[in-house]
Amino acid sequence: MHRTLRALLAAAIVMTTFFPTNEAAQKKDRFYFERLGYAHWQVPTHRKVVALTFDDGPDPTYTPQVLQLLADYHDQATFFLIGRKVGEYPEIVRQTALLGNELGNHTFSHRHLAHMNAQELAGELDQTQSAILQATGQRCKYFRPPRGYYDEPSVLTAHDHGYPVIMWSWDEDSRDWQAPGVHNIVNTVLKHVHPGDIILFHDGTGNSRQTIAALREILPALHERGYQLVTISDLLRSADHTDAESK
Ligand SMILES: [Zn+2]
Repeated sequence: MHRTLRALLAAAIVMTTFFPTNEAAQKKDRFYFERLGYAHWQVPTHRKVVALTFDDGPDPTYTPQVLQLLADYHDQATFFLIGRKVGEYPEIVRQTALLGNELGNHTFSHRHLAHMNAQELAGELDQTQSAILQATGQRCKYFRPPRGYYDEPSVLTAHDHGYPVIMWSWDEDSRDWQAPGVHNIVNTVLKHVHPGDIILFHDGTGNSRQTIAALREILPALHERGYQLVTISDLLRSADHTDAESK
């Protein structure tokens, strides 16, 4: 073998062995999908903006209470809707959109994605999109998987259908669906909050009563700290441009 070629090969082996970024790029984890822009857990920004997100609605008891609270504080949020429920409560969905909130796709059945193939997921996305379109005349842009489960096939299926996947900040899971107590929900959210966070709540579970009580404390507290509460679209627009993007 030519000496130069051998030296190059040796260098290549050293590069792949000692540069962990190469290895990380191969791993289909959060950071891999974030780099591609196929999924978001939080948004890099220096602006004091956060996005509140509400899963599993619409719910006839809790969604109107969340909407009222958001309106009282002139805030907007994003609601990841279960398509099956959209058909049951189209008026609540219409009201949610009319108040300037954003609507997102949370599948039609809320089945775990591990038990769905690509075709089934595509069908659920389409069914939910149709239900939302019928209720509001608007199309939704983002997808949140039930229970935050994601893998490469599901992220790619969502991407192929035009949906970025929206997860939530790792330290901003309020765990409100477990009814941990109002105080705990408030503390979890406020203790770790920082610019660009995506905060997870539920307005469509049996335990959402605690969510409402917690929001009564969280909304004024976030405003007091100078935060603006925005939709996912607005949060993504607030992202700082990285060096790579501006080149
Ligand atoms: Zn859910």
